[in-house]
Amino acid sequence: AWDTVRKDGKLSADNIKEPMREIRRVVHPAVAPCGALRALLEADVSLPVVRRFVKKVEDAALGERVVKGLSPDQKLTKVVYEELKSLMGGEQAELVQPKYGPSVILMAGLQGTGKTTAAGKLALYLKKKGLKVLLVATDVYRPAAIDQLVTLGGKIEVPVFELGTQVAPPEIARQGLEKAKAEEYDAVIVDTAGRLQIDDRLMAELRETKEVVQPTDTLLVVDAMTGQEAAGLVKAFNEAVDITGAVLTKMDGDSRGGAALSIKEAILCFNVFGDDCSSPPWRCLQVSGRPIKFVGTGEKMEALEPFFPERMASRILG
Ligand code: GDP
Repeated sequence: AWDTVRKDGKLSADNIKEPMREIRRVVHPAVAPCGALRALLEADVSLPVVRRFVKKVEDAALGERVVKGLSPDQKLTKVVYEELKSLMGGEQAELVQPKYGPSVILMAGLQGTGKTTAAGKLALYLKKKGLKVLLVATDVYRPAAIDQLVTLGGKIEVPVFELGTQVAPPEIARQGLEKAKAEEYDAVIVDTAGRLQIDDRLMAELRETKEVVQPTDTLLVVDAMTGQEAAGLVKAFNEAVDITGAVLTKMDGDSRGGAALSIKEAILCFNVFGDDCSSPPWRCLQVSGRPIKFVGTGEKMEALEPFFPERMASRILG
């Protein structure tokens, strides 16, 4: 079928019928994107999302003129790539820049997702950009969370503001911000408390902390291993504190082996942003404005990268 496309020299409703069927059935070994699609189908997580995706590729393929120098089959692969990229947020999303005063980044998320680690990583990331960074420890509930942040801060040589575990988190955050303003810090990263599950108290306290510090960014830290519940998680946090983006952690490891990694990525992206939306996921993502801003790729403080939709799309395509 791909030979027909190649021979005809342009994409038409007729000659893409077969390739599209193959993409759907995912049997053509020469078509790399099928790996990701097959994974989605096999994982049986978001069939409607896959269907919408295939439809979108089909529409785009038919609407496109064949660019000189690209054979039609390459063109079709490019269309798949472009759609994948747009599905993942299109352009890379930067941190919000404040008009004046320090950037304030609120780190939210469930316990164990890698929130405290991500706070440290982000501090180092911004420090390397030449910013004067302050970490604020408000996770007063998880035993040793404050010590952990203090240790991380020591390692990366970023000061950590803390008031122990007897002061309420919003108050710690308030004083931390005050210090940052007085001492002309460029960025303040507030590590908030996480819990094993979403509960009203956690959300109420998070809202209160947010009110107090008026963050420029509220980042939801999500473990890449999170399955289908990711959509609900994002929704709950977004409704409570209006997140500006996500940090996807633990993108390095997969107990089932590295080969499964890209698959995981695809599934997670579809899940986080697509699953419980009635409109197509890429619209959902744009409308909600919650892009993945960073990915964590290891336990080390250096293991944080901005999330590049086009790189992720390439990785998924293999
Ligand atoms: P918190 O409860 O959300 O603050 O979670 P922590 O920051 O304490 O992280 C929980 C565990 O996950 C720790 O053992 C971290 O070293 C580990 N971790 C965090 N981020 C990553 C990551 O990107 N990759 C890997 N492999 N481990 C991570």
